[in-house]
Amino acid sequence: MWPFFIDYWYIVLVVPVMIASLIIQGIMRSTYKKYSNVYAGAGITGAEMAQRVLREHGVTDVAVISTGGELTDHYDPRSKVIKLSSEVYGSRSVSALGVACHEAGHAVQHAQSYFPLVARNAFVPVVNFCSGISWIVLIVGLFMQYDLMINLGIILFATSAVFQFITLPVEFNASRRAVASLKNSGMLSDSEIAGTKKVLTAAAMTYVAALATTLASLLRLILITRGNRRN
Ligand SMILES: [Zn+2]
Repeated sequence: MWPFFIDYWYIVLVVPVMIASLIIQGIMRSTYKKYSNVYAGAGITGAEMAQRVLREHGVTDVAVISTGGELTDHYDPRSKVIKLSSEVYGSRSVSALGVACHEAGHAVQHAQSYFPLVARNAFVPVVNFCSGISWIVLIVGLFMQYDLMINLGIILFATSAVFQFITLPVEFNASRRAVASLKNSGMLSDSEIAGTKKVLTAAAMTYVAALATTLASLLRLILITRGNRRN
C-alpha cells in the first residue's frame, strides 16, 4: 500500500512541484485581485463584453448568466451557457473584462468546432473513467506482483496528463482570442489591454502548473514501481 505513503521520490519530485504550483496559484489570485480594482474607462461590464464578443463572431445561441462563488467562471458546452462569477458578471474592471472575454472565447471555439476543444471534450469521459480506476489497478497489480497490471495502472493514470496537455492549447487560444477581441473593440486603452494580458497569462500558468504536478506524480509512480520490482 506504499503509493499512499511518503517516499523519497514524493519528497524530491512531487512536493517541490506542488509548492511551485501553489506559488503560481497565489500569483494568479493576486494579479486577478489587483486588476479587479482597476476599472476600465469603457464602463462596460464583463457580461456585456462577453455578449459583444459573441455577437462579433455571429454566435447567437449562447447565454451569459451569473453564477455563485469566486473564480468559478466557465463555459458549459452542453447547455451552451457562459457562467460568470457575480464579481465578473457585473464588474467593469480590467480583470472582469479579461475573464469574460476568455470564457466567450471558449464559446466561439465551440461554435467554430476548434479542434483542440472538440478533442478535449471528447476525452473527458475517457479520462474520468481511466483516472478513476488507475489506483485500484495499480494497487491490485502491486499486491499481486503482476507487472502487466502495474504498467496498465500507470498508463491509466497517464491519461490525466494527456488530458491536461490538450487543455493547454484550448486555454491559451481562448486568452489570445480574448485579447484580440478587446483590442478590436477599441474600447480599452493600451495599459488596460496590458492588464488583461497579465491576468490571463497568470491564469494560463495555473494550467501549466497542474500538468507539471501530474507529470511529477506520474514520474514518481514509474520510479517507485521500478525500484520495487528490483527489490
Ligand atoms: Zn478557459
